[in-house]
Amino acid sequence: MDKIYTDICVIGAGSGGLSVASAAAQLGLNVVLIEGHKMGGDCLNYGCIPSKALIAASKSAYALTKGDAFGIRSVSPKIEFSEVKKHISRVIKKIEPHDSVERFEKLGVKVIQNYGKFISKNEVLAGDQLIVARRFVIATGSEPLIPKIKGLDKVEYYTNKNIFKISECPKHLIVIGGGPIGIEIAQAYARLGAAVTVLDARNILDNDDPEAVRVVMAQLEKDGVKIVEHQEVTYIEKDSNNIKVITSDETIYNGSHLLIAAGREPNIKHIDLDIAGVIQSNKNIKVDAFLKTSNKRIFAIGDVTGERQFTHTAEYHAGIIIKSAAFGLKAKEKKYHIPWTTYLDPEISQVGLTEKQAFNKYGKRVTIVKVEYSNNDRAITELEPVGFVKVMVFKGRPIGATIVGKHAGELIQIWCLAISSKLKMTAISAMVSPYPTLGELNKRVSNAYLAPKVLNSPIIKRFVRIIQKL
Ligand SMILES: Cc1cc2nc3c(=O)[nH]c(=O)nc-3n(C[C@H](O)[C@H](O)[C@H](O)COP(=O)(O)OP(=O)(O)OC[C@H]3O[C@@H](n4cnc5c(N)ncnc54)[C@H](O)[C@@H]3O)c2cc1C
Repeated sequence: MDKIYTDICVIGAGSGGLSVASAAAQLGLNVVLIEGHKMGGDCLNYGCIPSKALIAASKSAYALTKGDAFGIRSVSPKIEFSEVKKHISRVIKKIEPHDSVERFEKLGVKVIQNYGKFISKNEVLAGDQLIVARRFVIATGSEPLIPKIKGLDKVEYYTNKNIFKISECPKHLIVIGGGPIGIEIAQAYARLGAAVTVLDARNILDNDDPEAVRVVMAQLEKDGVKIVEHQEVTYIEKDSNNIKVITSDETIYNGSHLLIAAGREPNIKHIDLDIAGVIQSNKNIKVDAFLKTSNKRIFAIGDVTGERQFTHTAEYHAGIIIKSAAFGLKAKEKKYHIPWTTYLDPEISQVGLTEKQAFNKYGKRVTIVKVEYSNNDRAITELEPVGFVKVMVFKGRPIGATIVGKHAGELIQIWCLAISSKLKMTAISAMVSPYPTLGELNKRVSNAYLAPKVLNSPIIKRFVRIIQKL
């Protein structure tokens, strides 16, 4: 058995693990990176990348049906589903080298392609290699949560692990779970020709602002996605070629394909946390504000911690580990500035507090300002007048922003900066935006906040009058 001594041993080569490994190696630390399955983890292979490639294909199909209003005859797209599948594979292939063993070995990382498990509090075994490290980073990600539904084990179902690989468009896709993963896939398949029904025990997208979700729901309805909320699935059975899904009100939904998108659970099955002395909380790995586990030598980052499970969270966590491991800084995790975007049409994006959270925290001292896309010249020229930018302001500073509409995920960035850097609304208002852009919406919402303060102030009015007399 080989024994390797190293500064950092990273377990899991997904978004979080790769970011730690590349930065640590480039800073001159000895790094071992262990990956038991595919380099790139969920994001590259089963998550962000295939889903966004599928969405891009579906948008392209949808655009063909929307030409009439521009004077370009709309056509009904002829969709070659096997070609859509090839497009998804090509996109993954294009990005793969960035996450590859070869690239990481060139950076000086020792990559071990095997599952790693703790055999003591400071040793990990991966195949026949024993790694003794000063610090370990668990970055093993998450897995689709399979709910306990009677009959589910007797039918064929899909998850994010295999839904992007099907080469025929489902006739009728039933999606259990109306979170971001389920809803993105639902809209994409509907636009590629499938009938789609989404079933959710609560509201769909229930971490998002309900007013923004209503905008999205209106479009989903136009796309032909049937949404059933507040219905728990109680029973599933196969009936000749159909899958029958029965809900708590005893309605039967018949579909040809079933997708389970009912949440995530940490991927810890290979790792032997007990031996490492690492405690879990609600199944996820419990970490403190410095992302340390109950074993002070071991950190955990990304999805396995159960917090805001996004690629950018995992990468942000990686930055915290690097500050601590390479520079000896006591870097603390903050959560208030982590945004998220759901890549629907229209997109929906959030950073900081929602309107409800802001009111719960600060009551009437919060000001809500909102501007509609329908007032933006660029949105008008592109026939994209649907959506709004809403900003929650406390003591002159934005504490949350909700955007629903075209390119919401791009427009939110300025609020990400404003909130993480604690900028004032005056900073956004002072910016000059190029005209005509959707970005002007952000400036406009700041002006909407500041204008009444200036225009309704008797002091300012008196001052202006005095100036006129000079
Ligand atoms: C359909 C879908 C769409 C998504 N879209 C987005 C999006 O648009 N934007 C966004 O920000 N996020 C998105 N996400 C979430 C994003 O994919 C995850 O948040 C991100 O991949 C988490 O990174 P991670 O490093 O924590 O884990 P992962 O990327 O899952 O990597 C964990 C790695 O650890 C390996 N591993 C596990 N156990 C062991 C072990 N014992 N030894 C060795 N290796 C091990 C696994 O094989 C895996 O490769 C999406 C997720 C899904 C499912």
